[in-house]
Amino acid sequence: MKLAARVARVTPSLTLAISAKAKAMKARGIDVCSFSAGEPDFDTPEHIKEAAKKALDLGKTKYGPAAGEPLLREAIAAKLKRDNNLNYTAENVIVTNGGKHSLFNLMLALIDRDDEVIIPAPYWLSYPEMVKLAGGKPVIVPTTAKNNYKITPEQLDRAITPQTKLFVLNSPGNPTGSVYTPDEITNLAKVIVERDILVVSDEIYEKILYDDATHLSIGAVNSQVFERTITSNGFAKSYSMTGWRIGYIAAPLEIIKAMNTIQSHSTSNVCTFAQYGAIAAINSSQDCVEKMRLAFVERRSIMHDAIASIDRLTCEKPSGAFYLFVDISQTGLNSLQFCNHLLESQQVAAIPGIAFGADSCIRLSYATDPISIKKGMERLDRFVRSC
Ligand code: GLU
Repeated sequence: MKLAARVARVTPSLTLAISAKAKAMKARGIDVCSFSAGEPDFDTPEHIKEAAKKALDLGKTKYGPAAGEPLLREAIAAKLKRDNNLNYTAENVIVTNGGKHSLFNLMLALIDRDDEVIIPAPYWLSYPEMVKLAGGKPVIVPTTAKNNYKITPEQLDRAITPQTKLFVLNSPGNPTGSVYTPDEITNLAKVIVERDILVVSDEIYEKILYDDATHLSIGAVNSQVFERTITSNGFAKSYSMTGWRIGYIAAPLEIIKAMNTIQSHSTSNVCTFAQYGAIAAINSSQDCVEKMRLAFVERRSIMHDAIASIDRLTCEKPSGAFYLFVDISQTGLNSLQFCNHLLESQQVAAIPGIAFGADSCIRLSYATDPISIKKGMERLDRFVRSC
């Protein structure tokens, strides 16, 4: 069988592969502690499920517009104004099958052969693969733990070439949990405007912030950067709606029209009645979001304290998202060896940092219950002692 050459250019998603393996082991009765996928363990809040059930009963079971239900697009535009100070209309919004689908469609809509896309490392593992699938070239810019894994304006400026089309900004970030300060965002915006490139701001972890961290959407800095900004977000992480597959992008009209054309020939609309759940999520009280965030605050402390007490492991206490990015270099193992042995010998699932462009680290998600976190950290301690 001769497959298309593009298949050989990409690797399958390791986050999905490892979490599927951990789930399969659990189904076989093995006592696995899984810190693999970034998936909150909470059920979707009741009022969101009720709204989707009601939509089903009301017959919201037909095709809808490819770009999404008008009511949802309006609710998203209003949310972006209210929470993010971004002046989009409903026409500037497209609803997609999850944050991943948003970004994939965006790459197809924007990236031509050999266009360069700047991605700071560590990065969420799907960004470079999506760029490659679209025929473009990911330009990886390494960051350091010393700078909290954040790209500096100087680094961004140096990475820009005449082929640069797009810069991928992800704050709060996966896998590191780093959050750019408003000043840092403003300084990156200056480079974007001066060098006239586009930026996609992946804000999927926007609501999961700790201590005194704040979130500034880069598109809100000024009108010049707004024209060059694509804002990406979704419902999975804030509302524990991972399986619903609902994300969105807000951007200049031309980009939304292009994405709509692509979507109209690929997936069509997102599941119609599910979109009514999303409308309820966005238009109702946000108490459920805060309740889950407070649970993450506690889990972050439990996991971080445990890691801090394990010799030869180091990690920053992150300001956002729900991951710890743990440096394992003192154990002498690379990240794949570390994660494979950890799963085999202690039944603890973690994601090797190599998937995110940082082989000296592993990613642990603490979007799971405190008992499993405590148990998993005891096993991790035992494992590191044995290395
Ligand atoms: N974004 C989540 C993660 O990084 C979900 C898995 C995926 O889509 O990669 O774990």
